[in-house]
Amino acid sequence: MADTLTVRLDSKLAEAGSALDVEGVLAVDDFVVGDRVFSAPDGIAYELTITNTGETILAMGSVEACLQGTCDRCLEEARLYLSGDVDALFADDPEAFAEGDDEREIEVLPIVEDVIDLTLPVRSAIAVEIPFKVLCKPDCKGLCPHCGQNLNEGTCDCEARLAAEGDPMNPMSALKAFKTKGGAKEEG
Ligand SMILES: [Zn+2]
Ligand SMILES: [Zn+2]
Repeated sequence: MADTLTVRLDSKLAEAGSALDVEGVLAVDDFVVGDRVFSAPDGIAYELTITNTGETILAMGSVEACLQGTCDRCLEEARLYLSGDVDALFADDPEAFAEGDDEREIEVLPIVEDVIDLTLPVRSAIAVEIPFKVLCKPDCKGLCPHCGQNLNEGTCDCEARLAAEGDPMNPMSALKAFKTKGGAKEEG
């Protein structure tokens, strides 16, 4: 696996209307998105069609990857199976095409010495598919807020103990209200 994806615009793409299919796997080390770090041990698989439209080079297709990260609830490993779409435009003079084309949110990237670099569009197509909340499974039960027990793996007796103690300062209803606020502290 190579960690860059570049395509030389050779004779196969010399004429307007000519197209070239490229497929393969892009190697990815750390995949940093915001303050999260994922890895993609199997890389990003891509299937793209590159078309010479006359004035520009259009690259369209699909990508797939399995990302490994950390579950937001239980802190165990989370695997994300993601697929996305690539839709990138290349031009000798990208700025000429960026102007007056507000309707389409398509990237216009430079053609540098007859080579197009698809590394960023392929990575971005996966990055935008990463969900806001990363979970190891949709119904992950998370950790017990009292003892840290991973509730996917087993139960603890915290709830039963608190209920038995009947502490009016610490009822489960207050705990639930606290949790739904995302742990934000209330003043006063
Ligand atoms: Zn989890
Ligand atoms: Zn517990």
